[in-house]
Amino acid sequence: MAARIIDGKAIAAKVREKIKSTVALLKAKGFTPGLAVVLVGDDPASRVYVGMKKKICVELGMYSADHELPESTSEAELLALIGQLNADERVHGILVQLPLPAHIDTDKVLEAISPMKDADGFHPYNVGRLAIGKPILQPCTPYGVMVMLDEIGYDLNGKEVVVVGRSNIVGKPVALMCLSRHATVTICHSRTKDLADVVRRADVVIAAVGKPEMVKGDWIKPGAVVIDVGINRVGEKKLVGDVEYAAAAERAIAITPVPGGVGPMTIAMLLQNTLESAQRTIGGK
Ligand code: NDP
Repeated sequence: MAARIIDGKAIAAKVREKIKSTVALLKAKGFTPGLAVVLVGDDPASRVYVGMKKKICVELGMYSADHELPESTSEAELLALIGQLNADERVHGILVQLPLPAHIDTDKVLEAISPMKDADGFHPYNVGRLAIGKPILQPCTPYGVMVMLDEIGYDLNGKEVVVVGRSNIVGKPVALMCLSRHATVTICHSRTKDLADVVRRADVVIAAVGKPEMVKGDWIKPGAVVIDVGINRVGEKKLVGDVEYAAAAERAIAITPVPGGVGPMTIAMLLQNTLESAQRTIGGK
């Protein structure tokens, strides 16, 4: 049986529609959720991401505060701006686009963001809250993966999940999220022995490696769900995931394509986080 294709574009559009209608309700009561996006330097890819984030923010009716700083910005200047944004009542989410220039200490900057406005969910406080099973703001890509599993009605309770990759932005947080849903979770990485055998056990495979098609189709247990977070450029234009898609799709019950799978979810969840922060602000007043 052919695998169900998990359509990230459609799911992200649904998330955005829901955010838009909630924002409209809040605005009718005189309250506008806001996101501040901070870009330091001229990295072309970062500029594209920041442009997309701002555009969607405005489309959803949110307030967008836009801070584009030169490459020469000092750490102290950036920290001062973060301090202002932390205090700005119009701003409920703050996103500092990474990577930052080498002369700026990224950890210091991320830790300066108020954990309650940490739209990326990277602040150690939010990482800790996730680890103890009481998340506040969650990292966007893994949060998007959970929404996709919910959309296909997949219950993780008691299932074997194998996460390939242990980064702080994808592998580790997605593993914690699956654990909190009562899955039995294995995290694999570059030193894992017999990766193929570990993946073969999985009811759900989540690949976040950054290596084109390194998870082979014949590693997938028949009937498994495959979530491919990887985005790898092959040649001039082609994008492929971390999973050998065509062969995996023959065995899986459901699979995310690349592109059009997890990718579109990330920005949608950034706006979701901003909305949740804004709603928490109102709740706390
Ligand atoms: P990292 O490079 O930070 O982490 C990659 C992980 O894969 C590491 O834990 C590494 O292990 C592991 N790994 C590398 N080689 C192997 C191997 N041969 N066998 C098993 N594990 C291996 O990547 P990210 O987590 O940041 O990103 C992963 C992928 O997801 C990338 O393609 C990225 O572009 C994509 N991505 C997509 C997003 C989206 O959809 N919006 C958002 C974020 C990322 P070790 O720790 O031992 O080095």
